[in-house]
Amino acid sequence: MRAFVQVDLQAIAHNIRQISARTTVPILAVVKADGYGHGLIPVATQAVDAGATWLGTALLEEAIAIRNAGIEVPLIAWLTPPHDDFETALKLNIDLSVSSVSLFAEILDQAKRSQIRPRLHFEIDSGMRRGGVLDEWTAFLDFAQEHRAEYELIGFWSHFARADEPESQFNILQQRNFDQKLAELEAIGLTPEIVHLSNSAAILSNASAHKSMVRLGIAMYGLSPDVQTMGSGLSFNLQPAMTIKAQIHLVKAAKAGDPIGYGGTEVLKYDTKLGIVVMGYSDGLPRSTSNAAGVSYEGEKAPLVGRISMDQCVVDLGPHSSAKAGDFVTVMGGDGYTIDEWALAANTINYEIVTRIAARVPRIY
Ligand SMILES: *Cc1c(COP(=O)(O)O)cnc(C)c1O
Repeated sequence: MRAFVQVDLQAIAHNIRQISARTTVPILAVVKADGYGHGLIPVATQAVDAGATWLGTALLEEAIAIRNAGIEVPLIAWLTPPHDDFETALKLNIDLSVSSVSLFAEILDQAKRSQIRPRLHFEIDSGMRRGGVLDEWTAFLDFAQEHRAEYELIGFWSHFARADEPESQFNILQQRNFDQKLAELEAIGLTPEIVHLSNSAAILSNASAHKSMVRLGIAMYGLSPDVQTMGSGLSFNLQPAMTIKAQIHLVKAAKAGDPIGYGGTEVLKYDTKLGIVVMGYSDGLPRSTSNAAGVSYEGEKAPLVGRISMDQCVVDLGPHSSAKAGDFVTVMGGDGYTIDEWALAANTINYEIVTRIAARVPRIY
């Protein structure tokens, strides 16, 4: 196996226990995007074993895959476009989120045909201007009241735009807006069973937003929502669950002055040994990290040199390295460069690094 993602499920369990100690409310484990690249079913299974009582995905097909794997805890898919497979969702007891009258009506129609009462969560836009009811709110309330007998009102929820900036006044504004809309809903006699608002950043920094359930994503995977504003995952006693390893395909000596790779973007400053590593941008290593970040060999850093190619990259093993073809290097995590270092080098966030590791890189547990 020339490259693989090693997922430490014990780290996921550890992280859930750490978060459980910080909140009094139930945890919904967010496993969208193939469990943030860690593998949907293994992560979902571990999360439930470790104490998460709910699961959440963005896409309905992810939620369906969870049910098909025999996992039976309450489960919500919150990003369903019109004409999604609501028939299957209802049959599999998957909760759905509605943020428009038209989607609400479509699900109720399907529910009538299926003769199953849908379990719904109302999403409101409390300030982010992404998902959630905004301008339609009054019409939405009227519709919800008029059709009250046709659905179960499970949840009321929204999402923070700036929870990773705990000092931002915008969080207070969103919370106020959220509470206000909830009061308006309850004023017409509609009381949701569960109110949920917090992502990892709010879980770690804002207990007043925990409401009756929290939605735990990135921190469950052992990563900080924002290293700059909130500190590292380590500072919250989280353990990163992902390590990536890849094989060296070739080791060769090269000379000072040699330009390396496409475009010769880096020229060696000294004689050294190069390692050609069998992992490239098609595997999800961001090409923009070329000349930054790197791998490690037996705990020694070996920086990238030149551009990352589609299936491979070149690293500087150092002039005295004992590495040979066939040996493995740690590409990220473990004793190598951290996921956060890769993210910084690629001018992105750790979320993007882990979720973009390609499907062709096997996950090992
Ligand atoms: C992804 C997502 C989360 C989890 O966010 P983290 O920052 O990873 O904790 C929570 N809620 C919703 C609606 C999401 O889409």
